[in-house]
Amino acid sequence: MIMKSKKLSIKIITLFPQFVEHFAEAFGIVKRAVKLKLLDIKALNLRSFGLDQRQTVDGRPYGGGVGMVLRADVLYKAIKRASSSAKASADKKGIGLRAKTRVILLTPQGQKFNQKTAQRLANYNQLILVCGRYEGFDERIRNFVDEEISIGDYVLMGGELPALVVSEAVMRLRPRILGKDESTIDESFSDKTKSDGRQNLFLEYPQYTKPEKWKVESGKWKGKTLKVPKVLLTGHHKNIQDWRQAEAKKRTKKRRPDLIS
Ligand code: SAH
Repeated sequence: MIMKSKKLSIKIITLFPQFVEHFAEAFGIVKRAVKLKLLDIKALNLRSFGLDQRQTVDGRPYGGGVGMVLRADVLYKAIKRASSSAKASADKKGIGLRAKTRVILLTPQGQKFNQKTAQRLANYNQLILVCGRYEGFDERIRNFVDEEISIGDYVLMGGELPALVVSEAVMRLRPRILGKDESTIDESFSDKTKSDGRQNLFLEYPQYTKPEKWKVESGKWKGKTLKVPKVLLTGHHKNIQDWRQAEAKKRTKKRRPDLIS
């Protein structure tokens, strides 16, 4: 049996470790999760696996063309180091080789990332995320990763933001990281089975907070009072639930009919 450890460990292989370090330090929820040992997120500086005195990590593409590509042998060394330290820390926790690790390459040519993929990845104990830069990487590195992920049909300058997108989407699905586990069940794109057995594939219902009546002071809505829907103020749990369900359905039909077709 595979044991799911309490801690999710994320290693990001990158030429720009500051991206990751700043992310881990800047956000309260992430900082708290690290402190509570629910999360470990670290950058592995690809440069430190570079060759010769100049710590070369890239080269010109064979056959010509613009730009540089990251070398497969250098990336391979970094992936190997990340996996072996993942194994070592798993051993220390007594979960041995059963610790589940997934090596992921970020590339616009990968499978498009979505909430379902985030849910699947949240079952791993360790994620190793490999970021490309420049024109990408030597094709041969593809043999050494478990899967390839794209965050959308556009091309960025590097894999760092995609790696953080994946990390953030996955970590918030892990138990206790958000504080209240319930909060990820109702929201948009969740297809977790709810307690009554139904699947939720809708966008989230509209949310409101104070003030109950908001008089707008300028612009298009000047002088108008925008009110919170009455049903939400009744305290009638069943009616509120029905209203939310209906609204979620309505807005999904309108904005994202593809989700329910
Ligand atoms: N020439 C490459 C793109 C290089 S972009 C190609 O056409 O496939 C440089 C790096 O940024 C990529 O190697 C990848 O790691 C990252 N990247 C760019 N866009 C991305 C996307 N949509 N999803 C995931 N990673 C992306």
